[in-house]
Amino acid sequence: MKLLLKILVLACVTLAPTAQAQDEAPSQTLITNVKIWDGLKDRLTNGSVLVEGNIIKEVGGSVSAPGATLVDGGGRTLMPGLIDMHSHLCLQEGMAEGKTAFDQMAMGAFTAHVLLDYLDQGFTTARDAGCNILGVAKAVNQGRIHGPRLYPSGGFLSQTGGHADTGNFNDQPGYVDDLERHGFGYIVDDVGEVRRAARQNFRAGATQIKLMAGGGVASEFDPIHMTQFSEEELRAAVEVAEDYGSYVLVHAYHDRSVNRAIDAGVKVIEHNFLVSEDTIKRMKKEGVALSLQAVMSLEAFADPESITFFSADQKKKATQVNAGAKQMIGWAYKHDLLIVTGGDMFGKAYVGRQADNLRIIPKEIPGVTPYQVLKTATSDAATVLSWSGGMNPYKYGTLGTITEGGYADLILVDGNPLDGLDALIRDNVHFVMKDGAVYKNTLRP
Ligand SMILES: [Zn+2]
Repeated sequence: MKLLLKILVLACVTLAPTAQAQDEAPSQTLITNVKIWDGLKDRLTNGSVLVEGNIIKEVGGSVSAPGATLVDGGGRTLMPGLIDMHSHLCLQEGMAEGKTAFDQMAMGAFTAHVLLDYLDQGFTTARDAGCNILGVAKAVNQGRIHGPRLYPSGGFLSQTGGHADTGNFNDQPGYVDDLERHGFGYIVDDVGEVRRAARQNFRAGATQIKLMAGGGVASEFDPIHMTQFSEEELRAAVEVAEDYGSYVLVHAYHDRSVNRAIDAGVKVIEHNFLVSEDTIKRMKKEGVALSLQAVMSLEAFADPESITFFSADQKKKATQVNAGAKQMIGWAYKHDLLIVTGGDMFGKAYVGRQADNLRIIPKEIPGVTPYQVLKTATSDAATVLSWSGGMNPYKYGTLGTITEGGYADLILVDGNPLDGLDALIRDNVHFVMKDGAVYKNTLRP
C-alpha cells in the first residue's frame, strides 16, 4: 500500500506536463550518464537522451539542453519501457471471481492497482488479450487513471463450448453468461454473431480482436485437442478487423487450430505449444507472429500441482503443454519467427512477476540470448502492435525503441541486460517514464 501511495504521488506530481497550456514550451528532461540499449542493436552505447514533452527529441553522445530537468543515471542502462503482449488486466484470481465473488466495481478497482504495478515493474505498454478493459483503456488514455499504454482486445470471442465458455453445465444454447453481460467475453456461433461481437469491441475502442480457436488448459468444457470456430467464422472476424485496418490474434495450441486460423488470415498465434516444426515454417513463410507465455508453459505447467484452482484434468493438460513448449520455442528461434512475449500472468502468485516471463527463456531454451528475448518485449512487440493500424491509439510516435521521434517510454536498470535478464527484476528498475511522465524514481534522495 505504501508503494502504491508513493506511485500515485509521483504520478500526480509528474503528470503536470500533459496539463500544460498550449503556448508554453513543452518541458524537457535530460537523462545523462547512461549506457543506452536502443531496443534494436546487440550492444550498448554511451550517451544522453533528451525528452521533450512526451517524445524523445535527441539521442547522442553530447546532448545539451539548458533549462532541462536533469536525471543522472549513474552509469545504469537506459532502455525502452517493456511491453507485455498477453495480459488479462481485469482478471485476478481466476475467471469465476468476477461473477461470483465480486461486482465489477471491485474488479475495476483491482485492475487499477495492477496497472500501477505494471508501471512499477517497468512495463509501460500492455496488450490485453481479453477482458472488459475498454473503459479502463479509455480512462488511461484520457489521463483520468494511471497505467501503461493499453492495446485492448475487448471481450474475447469464443464459440459455445469453447475456451472462454464459462457457463454452467445446465446452461442452454444462447444463454447470456455473466461474463458476457460484463463485456468480458462473447459466446458467439455463426458468422453473424462473430461479426457483431467483433464490431462491438472495435466500437468501444478495441485495437485488435482476440478469438479462442482451440481447446485450452484452464477451461471446463473444451478438451485441448479440440479445434474451435469454423474457417468461415474465423474469416468473418478477420474481415471485420481488416475493415477497421487491424488484425486478429487467436488462442491456439496445435496444428489443426493454428493452420485453420492462418488459412482464415489470422496474424498472431497465442501459445502455439503443441504445433509441429512444419507449422512453424509456415508461420515464418506467411509472416505470422508467435506470442509466447514462457512462465506459464515452462514453469507453472511444469508443476501443475502448485496451481491450486486446477482440477485433475486441467493438471493433466498442463503437463502435456509443458512437454511441447520447450521443443516449439526452440523451433521458433531456429526458424527466426517474429516472436513477442506476453505473460498471461494474473493472480497474486504471478501478476507481480512480468519480467520472469523474459528471464526464464534463456535459462530453459538452449542457445537463446538475452538480446533475442529483450527484442520480444520492445522493438518486435512494437512491430506487432503497429498492425492495429488505424485503431492504434498511439499514432504520433514509435514504441519499443530509443530513437528520435519515439514516445518517451523509458526505464533505467542496474547492470547490462544484454549480459543477463536479472537486470529486469523489479528492484533493479530504478526509473520508469511513460509518455514523458515519471512513475518511478528511486534515484532521488
Ligand atoms: Zn490468455
